[in-house]
Amino acid sequence: RIVYVNGKFVPEEEARVSVFDRGFMFADGVYEVSSVLRGKLIENEGHMTRLRRSLSELSMQSPGTDDEIEAIQNRLITLNKLDEGLVYLQVTRGAADRDFIYPGENVKPTLVLFTQAKNVIDNPIAETGITVKTVADIRWARRDIKTVGLLAPCMAKMEAKAAGFSDAWMVEDGYVTEGSSNNAYIVTKEGTIVTRQVGNAILNGITRRAVLALAEKHNYKVEERLFTVEECYDAAEAFVTSATMFVQGVVKIDGAKLGDGKPGKITQQLRELYIEMALAEVS
Ligand code: PLP
Repeated sequence: RIVYVNGKFVPEEEARVSVFDRGFMFADGVYEVSSVLRGKLIENEGHMTRLRRSLSELSMQSPGTDDEIEAIQNRLITLNKLDEGLVYLQVTRGAADRDFIYPGENVKPTLVLFTQAKNVIDNPIAETGITVKTVADIRWARRDIKTVGLLAPCMAKMEAKAAGFSDAWMVEDGYVTEGSSNNAYIVTKEGTIVTRQVGNAILNGITRRAVLALAEKHNYKVEERLFTVEECYDAAEAFVTSATMFVQGVVKIDGAKLGDGKPGKITQQLRELYIEMALAEVS
């Protein structure tokens, strides 16, 4: 596999980043994951806009213009002959002597990209759905910034896995924030789609925005508000969204089985609508 590091496209074995890189020492870096269908990026403009925001919230230099970054993403897709999967991109503040104070403008950001093949559309999980365990959200207070500081969600997912679940839904003050690497939704028995409102407590998902717009266009009632774990147990359906999973049904939350144990009808429709929108973008 060819990867990109600071201006060079190189085989992954030859890629090098300094041990003094602040991404390595302080998790002082941000990232984006865009999905790829038919060799083309999906919703990449949204990912670029969010990258700009993450960089700006952390006063981090940009490694290039949107067009320059997109050209690197596309070149990597071509070099690796990627048809379906994802492009990961990470920007760190660069390599400097270890200091809590950010280095000066002379230290240039580190830009790393790689691709990963994955069946995004024909994902077997779409048929079975996933199970989730609720766990305490022990992350920091700026989850709206997409940083590489991901140990807390790793711990959350490990806790879920140890108990036999596929993923974790994180909970703060009795309310669900989001999944370990996705946004979380329930569908009430009345058919209302409920998901937490954006703010500092969750990541403003690019897929979330598109899925909510599709839901409203198809006349579903959408409520962006706090929802409790008890509401989850009582839900008719539940699902998660992310760039690499699109829409995936949740069939069990802790001990509560939802519906007939398969992804629900509204969940399936939203998945189909999102796939349709994504395919339209690449054809
Ligand atoms: N929430 C968290 C914590 C995430 O890590 C992600 C994606 O990685 C998402 C939500 C979904 O965001 P997006 O739809 O932009 O992939």
